[in-house]
Amino acid sequence: MAPPLDRFIDTLAQRIVAASEELTALDSAIGDADHGLNMKRGFEAILAERASLVAKPLPDALKAMGTILVMKVGGASGPLYGTLFMTLGKELPADPSVADAARAMAAAMTALKARGKADLGNKTMLDVLGPLADHLGSGGASLASIRKLAAESAAATVPMKAIRGRASFLGERSIGHMDPGARSSQIMIDAVCDVLEGKA
Ligand code: ADP
Ligand code: MG
Repeated sequence: MAPPLDRFIDTLAQRIVAASEELTALDSAIGDADHGLNMKRGFEAILAERASLVAKPLPDALKAMGTILVMKVGGASGPLYGTLFMTLGKELPADPSVADAARAMAAAMTALKARGKADLGNKTMLDVLGPLADHLGSGGASLASIRKLAAESAAATVPMKAIRGRASFLGERSIGHMDPGARSSQIMIDAVCDVLEGKA
């Protein structure tokens, strides 16, 4: 049995809201200093719909969260995180296995690459979400290995040169900073792992 949906929603929202300044600081280095605010606005809107979201089966809740993120986050990341949640909602059953999660994340990666016209190595959230999808598909994933991979993947965006998103306007000057979307993806992955482990 998966932990109840309200724990996922509350923990995701708390972590993103708590990281708002950190995400905005990362975006001020290589973007327009709004990623933390964008994400905070999105997850506060999710919290405002908490009662109706937790009454839904997981797939429907994920789809509804995706719609809220598209409407409220804005910027480049809103449609992308919206696509992530909506695709997971479309692909996951009500009580998913690791194999279900692997398949759904692979489908989400295909959808995200198409929506953002981006690929791995472009210094975006894909550089955290893509390795996660592959790792889940490997069959050997544990919560510890997932957390470690997410941290390493976010850190690996530091030396990358941005090819997509606002940071790409900086060219070589984007090198040396962590991608804000990679970090927000890592924070969400950690939140989900903590809930699955009963730590949040
Ligand atoms: P904006 O760049 O419009 O201000 P945000 O600051 O909220 O939007 O989000 C920036 C993040 O969005 C980047 O750090 C990056 O991870 C992600 N991103 C931007 N463009 C793309 C893209 N084409 N594909 C995947 N991710 C992207
Ligand atoms: Mg921004």
